[in-house]
Amino acid sequence: MIERLPGGEVSDAPFAFDVTSRLDGHGRTGTITTPHGSIETPAFIVVGTKATVKAVVPEALTDLGAQAVLANAYHLYLQPGSDIIDEAGGLGAFMNWPGPTFTDSGGFQVMSLGSGFKKVLAMDTAGLGDDDVIAEGKSRMAHVDDDGVTFTSHLNGDKHRFTPEISLQIQHRLGADIMFAFDELTTLMNTRPYQERSVERTHAWAIRCLAEHQRLTVERADKPYQALFGVVQGAQYEDLRRQAARGLAELEVDGRSFDGFGLGGALEKENLGTIIGWMSDELPEDKPRHLLGISEPDDFFAAIAAGADTFDCVNPSRVARNAAIYTADGRYNINTAASRRAFVPLEDDCDCYTCTHYTRAYLHHLFKAREILSSTLATIHNERFTVRLVDNIRAAMRAGDFDAYRDEFLGRFYSRRVTA
Ligand SMILES: [Zn+2]
Repeated sequence: MIERLPGGEVSDAPFAFDVTSRLDGHGRTGTITTPHGSIETPAFIVVGTKATVKAVVPEALTDLGAQAVLANAYHLYLQPGSDIIDEAGGLGAFMNWPGPTFTDSGGFQVMSLGSGFKKVLAMDTAGLGDDDVIAEGKSRMAHVDDDGVTFTSHLNGDKHRFTPEISLQIQHRLGADIMFAFDELTTLMNTRPYQERSVERTHAWAIRCLAEHQRLTVERADKPYQALFGVVQGAQYEDLRRQAARGLAELEVDGRSFDGFGLGGALEKENLGTIIGWMSDELPEDKPRHLLGISEPDDFFAAIAAGADTFDCVNPSRVARNAAIYTADGRYNINTAASRRAFVPLEDDCDCYTCTHYTRAYLHHLFKAREILSSTLATIHNERFTVRLVDNIRAAMRAGDFDAYRDEFLGRFYSRRVTA
């Protein structure tokens, strides 16, 4: 059950994390307590980049079991402006979401949108060709230095600057329960020397984030407490990951330390569990760990076993809008002819609003006719599938059945991939 205060009321409960059960190794279940309610972990956090989960009303998010929503500081800073969200009473009040909220620091978007979406994010261009660094046809739009990042707005070309202090000022005005420190995102393409400098830079920025966080927490003492997570970088290098995690775990500035940690940056999929394990070795047991940007089923199992507690990703909704439907038997595209006369739910036995009210044939029609309801109904199903998967993993952990559930789920999801 989701524990939430009626009517979106705010409690004065401080931020807390309690471990409730453990696997062998780093995996654990727990409860994160925030002023806007609690989160049972492991948990999938639904992404509402611009203070909206595209095409879905917040009430539907409650119905599909979402425990919290993550929005994006960069997007909300550019539009509508963090001052407007502050005046509205914070992110949750603005978007009518009564539960816990997260905002990321804006660092990822400043750099990824700036240098070309889905392209390599190399800030050190020595030895690399332009094609490795900048999306074709785009000019470089973000520059990082030791003080911060200067970037060009993707909306109108205006120049903006993010520093650790500015990111925290924006995030305090946005008012989310959980915020992330401003970090430098690197990629697997960056050189080892660049990764070393980047870990040092992110640590220096973490000190400035904590100092600004403390100042703003005192200045805004009438607001609910906002927790700040430090973000561990270090790419695929064990020594850098351990050094970065240890450094952030030990950090205390003006009497304040991080409330939790983001596991960030470039992660090799095939070594996901190993790399998360290095960080979990170094991070304190009594603080939550958020893994940024994954939603594939095999990644969930690997990351949870290695000690990650919460996750966020745009993929379930993004692929839904492109007609890709998740099921326990894998993913299928509902645009194919196989769904034209399929008067059955998107997924057998799914308890989501879409599957209990509509058929594959109807959604096939909506997608073919390019009706916007297609996005709403497909997103509700995919988000429910993802939230439920992590809920089921949590239940299996509590029951001592994690390994058996993993083998059963992944065996079915990847071996009988549906193609219809
Ligand atoms: Zn469904």
